[in-house]
Amino acid sequence: MTTATSPDAGASRRLTLTFDNGPVPGTTERILKALDERDLPAIFFMVGERVLAAGGRETAARVRAAGHRIGNHTMSHGTPLGELDDAATAISEISDADAVLGELTEPDRLFRPNGRGRLGPHVLSWPAIDALRSGGYTVVTWNCVPRDGEEPSDSWVGRAHAALQTQDWTVLVLHDHHPRAVDHLPAFLDRVRDAGIEVTPELPDSCVLLRAGRPQPALDALMGQRPRDPGR
Ligand SMILES: [Zn+2]
Repeated sequence: MTTATSPDAGASRRLTLTFDNGPVPGTTERILKALDERDLPAIFFMVGERVLAAGGRETAARVRAAGHRIGNHTMSHGTPLGELDDAATAISEISDADAVLGELTEPDRLFRPNGRGRLGPHVLSWPAIDALRSGGYTVVTWNCVPRDGEEPSDSWVGRAHAALQTQDWTVLVLHDHHPRAVDHLPAFLDRVRDAGIEVTPELPDSCVLLRAGRPQPALDALMGQRPRDPGR
């Protein structure tokens, strides 16, 4: 990691590519090919049940072998953890996916909550945060969801570029399970390269709630004050 000491710091723009909700055999491999051909890194936030589905583990292993980071994106990708009534269910959504992913993840243990595309305090509960803290997780959010499931299937590209033009560091959420959107990934990545945007596997403070289990300012900004009555 560099510090902001050079006179040019801030002048260059950065992009962290993240692919959520996979692995999806076939489509994930097309993403890998587009990244590999351009020597670009990414983070794949995987759903435990998708790893257990047919071909999922083999695809996940290909992501790992290609050198990309893999994070936990819950076991079932069901109700956002902050909307679950039951603390134990929220915690098992994290721990069950962790058990499935096993050695595919790396020592720094990345986790991304699901939120139906929206970022707010509904994505986490305090018991889940406690579990993520004690597990030493780095908890990752996002600052651009270009809606890659919408038609026309290339419309996400324009929305992503608009974000890249207004943000110093974009953490972009794309999905393994929108195959038609992935058709447009190679051209998008070429435009990113032509614009001189640096693609990095690192993460900006504004999109990190916990780093290796340590609460960050972005956690307070998202969740607000912890209620005195523990539970939610
Ligand atoms: Zn998701």
